[in-house]
Amino acid sequence: MPSETHEQCGQCRFAYARIDMECWGETSARRVMCPICGWTKYEEHTSLSASSTLTKRNEKRGYGAYRLIPPGGFSGYNAFHAPPADGVVSQIRELLDKGWKGYLTVWDEGKGRPRLLAGSPLQKFDVSSDDGE
Ligand SMILES: [Zn+2]
Repeated sequence: MPSETHEQCGQCRFAYARIDMECWGETSARRVMCPICGWTKYEEHTSLSASSTLTKRNEKRGYGAYRLIPPGGFSGYNAFHAPPADGVVSQIRELLDKGWKGYLTVWDEGKGRPRLLAGSPLQKFDVSSDDGE
């Protein structure tokens, strides 16, 4: 079921690919990114009065995704649209080992599905607020 904030991933079928919207006057952009496999769809719309016209559309295969949260901070999701280099993977792993929250997945070509390499997608709520909550 499509909704305002999530739609189904076009690659791994995860039900909660994230939707980000931005608007500048009559133009709006909509990005749907799967936090599991990195699949990303990008659309631009121009709206005049009640009708909206799709002006640009771009879909990219995912090769993995990651989220990095520095101590005490917040950070969004990122996707790989080409297989990540070994150096990139080890750098993200290193930060996660050092106590950064987040996770790293890569697309497993052989199995045809994403694989969790490091971290946990569920730790995002472990970040404590500044007021100590
Ligand atoms: Zn996906």
